[in-house]
Amino acid sequence: MNTRPLLKLADLNFSNRLKKVCPHLFVEVSSTPLKNPVLLHTNLDLLNRLELDPRELEKSSFTRFLNGDLGFEGLIFSSTYYSGHQFGYYVPRLGDGRAIMLGEVENRAGEHFELQLKGAGLTPFSRMGDGKAVVRSSIREYLASAHLKALNIPTTEALAIIHGSDDVYREEVEKAAIVLRVSESFLRFGHFQYYASTNQDAELKKLVDFTIENYFKDFADHSNRYVLFFQSVVKKTAKLFAAWQSVGFAHGVLNTDNMSILGLTIDYGPFGFIDEFDLDHVCNHSDHEGRYSFGNQPPIGMWNLEQLGIALKGLITEEDLKRTLDTYPQLFHVEYRRLIKDKLGLYKSLAPDEDFLKKTLNMLVSTKLDYTQFFRELSHYQTSKTLSFTATPELTEFLILYEERLSLEETSSIDRKNNMLAINPKFILRNYLAQIAIENYDNNPQILGQIFEVLSHPFLEWTEFDDWSRPAPIKYKNLSVSCSS
Ligand code: AMP
Ligand code: MG
Repeated sequence: MNTRPLLKLADLNFSNRLKKVCPHLFVEVSSTPLKNPVLLHTNLDLLNRLELDPRELEKSSFTRFLNGDLGFEGLIFSSTYYSGHQFGYYVPRLGDGRAIMLGEVENRAGEHFELQLKGAGLTPFSRMGDGKAVVRSSIREYLASAHLKALNIPTTEALAIIHGSDDVYREEVEKAAIVLRVSESFLRFGHFQYYASTNQDAELKKLVDFTIENYFKDFADHSNRYVLFFQSVVKKTAKLFAAWQSVGFAHGVLNTDNMSILGLTIDYGPFGFIDEFDLDHVCNHSDHEGRYSFGNQPPIGMWNLEQLGIALKGLITEEDLKRTLDTYPQLFHVEYRRLIKDKLGLYKSLAPDEDFLKKTLNMLVSTKLDYTQFFRELSHYQTSKTLSFTATPELTEFLILYEERLSLEETSSIDRKNNMLAINPKFILRNYLAQIAIENYDNNPQILGQIFEVLSHPFLEWTEFDDWSRPAPIKYKNLSVSCSS
């Protein structure tokens, strides 16, 4: 057992391997700390993985650190260039308009964590923006990233959130916050597109080599490494999108600058979880055409990968790019089918399954049952054989087919129930839950802590918080979520 003591903040050893390889991707910046910063919440599990001593939280230096107001050796603030397709149109220069990279730290297990402050002030990439983030969107990102992690969906994370007394001007005047984001890497498709579109071929090659050597190590020495790299990104992306679809998560702004090269969920904005199974659901009220509707996500994943492919065409032949991209629909489909079958507790591979899954989803569309509650109740149904929903003809027909299909399985009902309860969450981050945390952040910050706990363990029963497993009460129906954050 390792008996080395936990680290103090000042013991963190910051480096930036990417900056050594691609220095021109970075611009040094300075932060604009918030006035009267208050630590709102810390993710203790992540703190533990970073091997930081929890006693650090009680010191004012921790809040100052989160506020971009504490420097120590090796810590250099910088932001990066990137570009990207926004709603289908190429924008040659985006970059970290309100994200400041602090660098990366390594824990004793050799895991690397990049640390980034979101909302700590203007950078050369802020364009018309103010470099700030509001409490509302910061709480949403903070909760959502811990929640997706708990749902076993690849994602960036957040160590802590602070708020300040500064006014921020959006549709109305709001208060400012900063989230300390943490990820193995914050590289986006847009970083690769930036180098490609500015014809920096040598830099692009360095960036791709760096990415492979550090994050795709399995084939770092392979002669066909670029193709294998692209294949791997396509696969990770297909798996990520299948995972989103299976839990009913809509990202909201799937521009290529919001696509992680590691297949992580990144840049939480106007995201949402579906209540009913509605493929036309658009969570971003600024997305008038529904480009990023829930049902459009899988093909958008393909479209975005095509743009990444275009950026990589100096390194990979057109034929290999096409062949690799063509695998995406099947990769997505196989993974999605597996996930939905798991949600139903079906483990055998049988010919009529495809048809049965379609019927299941059609039933959910026509009955308008709550997607999350349906699968949670179905988990209990394995042993109770009862559901609380009204017995519509569609649901009754489904249950007859389901019983028939279950009879072909070998798993016992009790095992299946336990398996299902471990993957069908009782709680998902419905917009109104984030809203409750937001409305109470100042007067009653414990509520944020409780919501954080529940959403970080969404498969537990938490009977005292039963209400939070249900769709929005009337008061919170029709909450509108826009891009402005
Ligand atoms: P997003 O839609 O949040 O992914 O952001 C798209 C681009 O706008 C990125 O380059 C962001 O850094 C930038 N951006 C978004 N909000 C702000 C802001 N308040 N201040 C500066 N830049 C911003
Ligand atoms: Mg973004």
